[in-house]
Amino acid sequence: MNTQGSQKAFEEAKNLIPGGVNSPVRAFSSVGGTPLFIKEGKGARLIDVDGNEYVDFVQSWGPLIFGHRDEAIESAVIDAVKHGLSFGAPTTAESELAEHIISLFEPIEKVRFVSSGTEAVMSAIRLARGFTGKDDIVKFEGCYHGHSDSLLVQAGSGLATFGNPSSPGVPADFTKHTLLAKYNDIDSVKKCFEDSDDIACIIIEPIAGNMGLVPADKDFLAALRKLCDKHNALLIFDEVMSGFRANLHGAQTLTGTKPDIITLGKVIGGGMPVGAFGASSEIMAKLSPDGPVYQAGTLSGNPVAMAAGNAAITKLKSFARVMSVLEHRSHRLMAGMQEMATKHNIPLKTTVRGSMFGFFFSEIDVKNFDDAMKNDQDRFSKFHSKMLDEGYYFACSSFETGFISTAITDDMIEDTIKAFDKVFGEL
Ligand SMILES: *Cc1c(COP(=O)(O)O)cnc(C)c1O
Repeated sequence: MNTQGSQKAFEEAKNLIPGGVNSPVRAFSSVGGTPLFIKEGKGARLIDVDGNEYVDFVQSWGPLIFGHRDEAIESAVIDAVKHGLSFGAPTTAESELAEHIISLFEPIEKVRFVSSGTEAVMSAIRLARGFTGKDDIVKFEGCYHGHSDSLLVQAGSGLATFGNPSSPGVPADFTKHTLLAKYNDIDSVKKCFEDSDDIACIIIEPIAGNMGLVPADKDFLAALRKLCDKHNALLIFDEVMSGFRANLHGAQTLTGTKPDIITLGKVIGGGMPVGAFGASSEIMAKLSPDGPVYQAGTLSGNPVAMAAGNAAITKLKSFARVMSVLEHRSHRLMAGMQEMATKHNIPLKTTVRGSMFGFFFSEIDVKNFDDAMKNDQDRFSKFHSKMLDEGYYFACSSFETGFISTAITDDMIEDTIKAFDKVFGEL
């Protein structure tokens, strides 16, 4: 495969942009090699600057549930562009997308739009603190909630549940209010409530997608709900990734546990930058201008971004079977992968939730971040690079989730499984 164009573009970019990329995961650092510079997307496929084509299982890290250049989304965006890019004043497109979200997510009675998942989560946490009048928050190892200061934490030393900054530039004073617990381990959460009587909220990815795909146990989520109720804390489901992916109505319909606040992103923008957070009218009433909790954005609810989101969600709602079709394809892909792994004696664990799929080169069932770390990283790197050679674009880290779009056909899935057979034979 000729990737000279990408190599040259990467060298140039590195002189201009730190690491050559505007989001670190794109740099391919965990798998080695050069990131592919993309010229265009078409349906299920990405085409790089050297003209190589790949079936895309990354889909811009989740947003593109209808694949690249979906006709309905593309024409909605072009139409919106012709009316103006931004007004800094309200438009009816914002109410339209708000109505979609409120009709789909039962816990949401009001919603506020922002421009990224990071912003949605950061604002949701401020709202939870403002609503409860408390300062501490609980998050889980291995869950990612964007790059705001108080969420960039790692486990402290010894028995402390209070987190340490995981990045230079984040003062320890900013993360001392973030308590760290272990995913799917309720005792570690109880300990947080013993260590602090000032907990405003628990934030969790109910279907974690940022340590590989690791869904929370139903009982665990139910126990979190109970702890929150007992201690007057709010439960936040970060569904920036799983929203509209695992299910059309949010994780609460899959798990039976109802959160107080939900954060959304990725799919709701249809490929444009959109984030959102929503809750009951009572909680949302605390937000400015109705209430005292400040939050704002020059480009929030941008009309072009809203047009893309509305087109995507309208299409999802009007084609009710879409979720089960996508889930069926994810299951087939993972079943085929498992079959080929068994054939070639490669330990593999797979998971599916709707159009999300995940796999670990591991012998153990993965329930938390420690388990995820036991994945065979070296094998993953080789797998990743050989699959690229075969024309399949998978996420360049084993701690990411894979995605199926409606543009990925049953035949493409069967061809991918044949490529697994070939690649596993060479591992
Ligand atoms: C992607 C992601 C975010 C951050 O969203 P950005 O748009 O990248 O800022 C937050 N939470 C979860 C669960 C995500 O997957």
